[in-house]
Parts: sequence; structure tokens; C-alpha cells
Amino acid sequence: MRKMWIDGAGVDSVSDTGQVIEVIDPATEEVLDTVPAGTPQDVERAVAAARVAFPTWQQITAVERANLLHQAAARMREHFDELVRLLTLEEGKPVPENEEEMDWSLNTLDYYAELGRHIRGSVVPSPDVGQLSLVLKEPYGVVGCIVPWNYPILLLMWKIAPALAAGNTVVVKPSSVTPLTTLRMVELAFDHLPPGVVNVVTGRGGAVGDALVVHPDVSVIAFTGSTGVGQRIARATAGRMKKLHLELGGKDPFVVADDAPLDAAVEAIAYAALINAGQVCTSTERVYVPRAMLGQFAETLAQRVSRLRLGPGIEPTTDVGPMAGESYRAKVEAHVADAVDRGARVLVGGRRPPGLARGFFYEPTVLTGVDHSMRIMREETFGPTIPIMGYDTFDEAIALANDTEYGLGACLYTHDARKVHRFYEQVQAGTIWINDPLTDNYAGPFGGMKMSGLGRELGLEGIEEFWQTKHVHWDIEGGIKDWWYPYREHV
Ligand code: NAP
Repeated sequence: MRKMWIDGAGVDSVSDTGQVIEVIDPATEEVLDTVPAGTPQDVERAVAAARVAFPTWQQITAVERANLLHQAAARMREHFDELVRLLTLEEGKPVPENEEEMDWSLNTLDYYAELGRHIRGSVVPSPDVGQLSLVLKEPYGVVGCIVPWNYPILLLMWKIAPALAAGNTVVVKPSSVTPLTTLRMVELAFDHLPPGVVNVVTGRGGAVGDALVVHPDVSVIAFTGSTGVGQRIARATAGRMKKLHLELGGKDPFVVADDAPLDAAVEAIAYAALINAGQVCTSTERVYVPRAMLGQFAETLAQRVSRLRLGPGIEPTTDVGPMAGESYRAKVEAHVADAVDRGARVLVGGRRPPGLARGFFYEPTVLTGVDHSMRIMREETFGPTIPIMGYDTFDEAIALANDTEYGLGACLYTHDARKVHRFYEQVQAGTIWINDPLTDNYAGPFGGMKMSGLGRELGLEGIEEFWQTKHVHWDIEGGIKDWWYPYREHV
């Protein structure tokens, strides 16, 4: 059994319940390892450690903090292959996708290490001469970071890198599906930080997550996960006015314009919809194609998808790995069944692969004949499905793209600058990708509009989330002001 990481050391649960969480390899359904099923008492201990560590971490110089974070990134590089292998086994996606996740994660750490030592605030013009107006950026204190399973290291790093660089300490609750790589990474790469700066408590969302969210000494909750749990966190924290950072679900559209080159658009959509078996918050979940191109486009895409190789992520030949668990696969099956019941046609996939008896596999699936009455076009599917719908005008395509309660990302394929302009001005989404879907940029902010969340990760915005602002007004010489009392001379 793995240990949690609290106050700079690997520890068992204080509660001594003996309860564990089994971590399953989604490609084989075998138990990889276990972690403690932590309790609110473990959260208490971790938050106390983070609270004690905060003044030290806040007060060390920004240069030293940056150096310590760069060292953590370097240690991740040293252990790159081990971490990638473990991530592949517990999360399921193919090795190249996990190499990319690890690479992005440690680069995010380096990026924020530099940004953190670059900014302390600003000086704004004062209302009068002889005065100084400082706008100071200060850390909040203890940040609770709650992360899902689909990119457990990347999404964690998007939180802890800026939070630590900004001078906060953190308590992390990894997903119960994927806690192993997080624990290993912290013991390998973060054990040189002062004890208590980084803590990891494993356990169920309803126990450990809840306790972290409502803890009075946790000032910020940085959460990535489903919109339902995000709403629950918002309700639970309202009474304490906690700072919330919520990265939630999506239902991203991909619009193919009438000038798009067929081959490139097909390849782009296959990648955007099927990377990580469609389990990306910004997965392409709805495709809109000009009606005149629809038949040929759908056939070409179905042929392309049928050539992808399904298998364990650890196998070098695999293009698409398993889904993360049975409940996630069951949701995909329900969405496909609902679409077929309402008249959709499955061109390829639409079933569990007959050749893979074990593992949570589902064949990459292309559907046509879909419309917005179907669950697969309205609810987050989070699986390897590509429903394609025709449109007549570009205005209609934009209206269809916006016809969702979500607003995380949106993709367009075109070389028509006028269409690009209309798309990014009119589509309500936090990220717009033109001709290069799902590419992240540490320097560019990421996050959702509408029900997809609050706040932004990455870029300058991503570190601003972990600072509170203080305005210092200083009259350097002092003296009695003529607008103080009395307003008029007494007679
Ligand atoms: P989830 O069920 O919402 O869980 C996310 C995290 O919240 C897990 O660590 C979970 O712990 C914890 N949790 C559950 N109940 C909680 C509670 N009452 N209080 C506090 N924490 C609680 O989501 P998921 O299935 O792991 O991930 C998939 C979802 O994440 C999708 O909706 C996807 O769109 C979204 N996502 C969004 C982004 C983005 O940037 N916008 C990125 C990736 C994923 P347990 O694992 O122990 O249940």
C-alpha cells in the first residue's frame, strides 16, 4: 500500500480504519496497488501542516522559491520514464500521450517558477504629490487542490505550480481513480521543499474532498472535475466566501467550414475527439459539417477511425487506450443507445471490442443522423464518440455551436479569415482553436464560460488566481489635510 504525503513524509491514515482504495489498471481490470482511504482527520493534519508551513514559504525570497520549484521540475525529468509508465498503467491512455502530459507538467512548473519571481505587484499613480500607491499581490495561505483522473499530473500542476510560485502552500486530493503517480511524483520530486508546503491526502471525494472544501483554514479551493461536483463545492463554500477556482465539464463543438481541406479536417477531428479515448474536458464532442459535404466527410472519417488500433496504453502499437472505468463506459453506451433509438446511424464502432475481453475498452464510434434532441449532442459523453451533424449556413453552425449550457472550448477548420473572425467573436467558449485543436500554451489562459467554470488556469491569469490584491496608500511626508475636520470654521 502507498502512503499519503503529509508534512514532508509518507504517512498512513491517522484514523487507523484499515480502509483502502484499490487502484485498477483499466486495460486489465487488475488491482495495481492500494492507497489509504483517508478521513477528515487526515485532512485536519494536512491542513495544519500546510498552515504552519505557510509563513516560511511566503517569506523565503522569490528567487529561492523559484530555484526550489525548478529543482522539482528537474527531478521530474530525471524520473520521467518511471512516472510515465505508472501514469499509463493507472490512467490508461497510450504512452506518447502520457509523455506529453509529463512534459507539459514539468514545463508548467518551470514556467511558473519564473513568473513567480517576476511579479510582486505594481505602482499606480497616486492622487497627490508626495504619495506612493502600491498594488501588492499576496498569497492567500492554504490552497486545497482537487483533481480528476483524466490528466492527473497536468491538471494538478496547473494548480500547484502557480499556487506555490505565488507563495501559497497546498493540500492535494487526487482522484481515487488515479492517486498513484501523484504520490510517487511528490515523494520523488517535491521532498526537498520545506515540510508541509505540499501535502497529498488520498480518499473519497465525499469524505476527504468534502472535509477539505469546508475546512476554515483552507482559503482557496482549486477544483477540476464535473460540473455537478463543482456546483456542490460552490454551495458548500458560500457561507465562508472562499475563493473558488472551478474548471468543469464541456461539450465542445468542432465546425468544419465549406473551404476546409477534407483530409486535414478528418485527421484533426479524429485526434480532437479520440485523444485519451475522448476523456478530455475539451474533447470534440459534436461535429458540424456543411450539409453538401456531410456524406463524403462522414465516410472518410469512419474509414480513418476504423484503422486506429485499440489496446492497452502500455503497448507501443496502441492508438486508443481503454476508458478509465466501467461507469464511464456505461455512460457512453447509454448515449449511443439513446441516439440510435432516436434515429442516429452508427458508421463505425458503437460497441465493446469483441477481441478484448478484459479492460474498459469501447470502440471509437462515428455516428450520423444526430440532432440536438439526443443526449449525445447535449450532455457531456466523455468517451470515444464522434457524432456528426450537417448545417446549411455558417450562421447556423455558430448557433449550433452555442446551443449548449457549456462553454469550455470550440474548434474550427477553415482558411477563410472572415469565418475565423466571426467564429472567435461569436462563439461563447474560453478557448477557440482554429486548425490546431486542443493545443495548450502555458502562456495562454485556459478555462470555461457558462457552466464550464470560473477562473482561468495557465498564463498570467493562472497565477493571479492564487494572489489576493492589497492596495497600500502612503503619504510619505504626512501632515494635516485641508479636507479633514472641521469642514467649516466654527463660529
Ligand atoms: P468528478 O467526479 O467531479 O471528480 C473530480 C474530483 O472531485 C475527484 O478527485 C473526486 O474524488 C472529487 N470529489 C468528488 N466528490 C467530491 C465532493 N463532494 N467534494 C469534493 N471533492 C469531490 O470528476 P471526474 O470524473 O474525476 O473527472 C471528469 C470530469 O472532469 C468531466 O466532467 C470533465 O469535463 C472534467 N474536467 C474538466 C477539466 C477542465 O479543465 N475544465 C479538465 C479535466 C476534466 P473521487 O475521485 O474520490 O470521487
